[in-house]
Amino acid sequence: MHQLTIAEIIRGLRDRQFSSVEITGHLLGRIEQLDGNYNSFISVTPELALQQAAAADERLAAGDAPALCGVPLAHKDIFCTEGVRTSCGSKMLDNFTPPYDATVVENFNNASAVTLGKTNMDEFAMGSSNETSYYGPVKNPWNSNCVPGGSSGGSAAAVAAQLTPGATATDTGGSIRQPAALTNTTGLKPTYGRVSRWGMIAFASSLDQGGPIARNAEDAAYLLAAMAGHDPKDSTSLDRPVPDYTAGLNGDIAGLRIGVPAEYFSDDLNPQVAARVQDALKEYEKLGAQLVEVSLPHTHLAVPAYYVIAPAEASANLSRFDGVRYGHRCEDPRDLRDLYMRSRGEGFGEEVQRRILVGTYALSAGYYDAYYNKAQQVRRLIKQDFVQAFEKVDVIMGPTTPSPAFALGEKKADPVAMYLEDIYTIAANLAGLPGMSLPCGLVNNLPVGLQIIGNYLDEARMLNVAHRYQQVTDWHKASAA
Ligand code: GLN
Repeated sequence: MHQLTIAEIIRGLRDRQFSSVEITGHLLGRIEQLDGNYNSFISVTPELALQQAAAADERLAAGDAPALCGVPLAHKDIFCTEGVRTSCGSKMLDNFTPPYDATVVENFNNASAVTLGKTNMDEFAMGSSNETSYYGPVKNPWNSNCVPGGSSGGSAAAVAAQLTPGATATDTGGSIRQPAALTNTTGLKPTYGRVSRWGMIAFASSLDQGGPIARNAEDAAYLLAAMAGHDPKDSTSLDRPVPDYTAGLNGDIAGLRIGVPAEYFSDDLNPQVAARVQDALKEYEKLGAQLVEVSLPHTHLAVPAYYVIAPAEASANLSRFDGVRYGHRCEDPRDLRDLYMRSRGEGFGEEVQRRILVGTYALSAGYYDAYYNKAQQVRRLIKQDFVQAFEKVDVIMGPTTPSPAFALGEKKADPVAMYLEDIYTIAANLAGLPGMSLPCGLVNNLPVGLQIIGNYLDEARMLNVAHRYQQVTDWHKASAA
């Protein structure tokens, strides 16, 4: 049963081949039996899951069930869940049980989807390897000596290990697409504002965006349909109609113009990864698409701009964790200053502290213009590159990551090497554009991701483009489990 895709589970539940309680129980058993190998969950919620599954079965029997009714899923531990600990991968929030659900979680609950538990992640979503989690690293199901990517490494690994058919995730600079690429899953970061950020613990508010990780584009379409939509509680949420993402999946893509940026095939790219991506582009040509050379000349500035803007916003967002209202509090503080300093010093890990220091520095008087303002100007240029490219093409394609999964520990001591993992993903966040990663081959038995960057609010087309490729290739079916 764990091999089933979300689309197959939806059909199976309606055809009474199995109940939600049955498939939920099966997956909970698998998590208990196997997750010791992966560490992809921070919290498993069997009681809640079985209760939700029983309610879903009643709703299915009554015949008025929404698409995802009874489908078991997992949520990244960055989404607040009422009554269920939400740690954000940090000691700071190890003891935090939110009194409310994030809008994304509420949407899934309203659809009667089932929550299996909360997935592991880099602390406060800062990282590309899942090694900064307070709860220990996640292992890549394809090779347990390798990282699954981050920060949504738990969600990606849980899907790849077939512990859940789908999971929520978030992407500030690549954290949906990069782990999807490294685990042979399909992940989608929507247009900024498409999915509500309410109740999603903030890292860098102008970049953060929630989205799905699943086994294929069709399943991602089902999940995005439940996640997307206007939310008055998030002032950056877009009040635009949500298209029917599953309806358009089979559309013909003959004549599709695919932009291929030379900058995404630079020296940083592993040649075997480049070859798999080129193979995928050839497959698209066979489907009738046309490859068009485009240029994104400011690509090399994306990492430096991001690593000023994201830490700057993080330093402001994380100032709320002061040991006073909630989260970790040090023992026996001498005075208020001691309370702040020790609570934050003890509660935040090394990478989070590094970001707060960098961000505070970049925002300080005298450096603000030199760093923060400059980075915002660069951001504008990066966005302009895409606006110009999309005058000529419908989607942009390239690699998701410069290499396949790397070894645990390999980049941990070198933050800059870790930051360069994001060179192909970060620009889409800076521009607010939607991006996807889908499996396009293996290198040394490790997965390679093809990245699709779409125009604003063009998620339906991206899903269609991804689905058509998955109809003529089997890479997404290759399994680590
Ligand atoms: N790796 C990037 C960072 O550490 C992106 C993380 C993310 O997308 N949440 O900031």
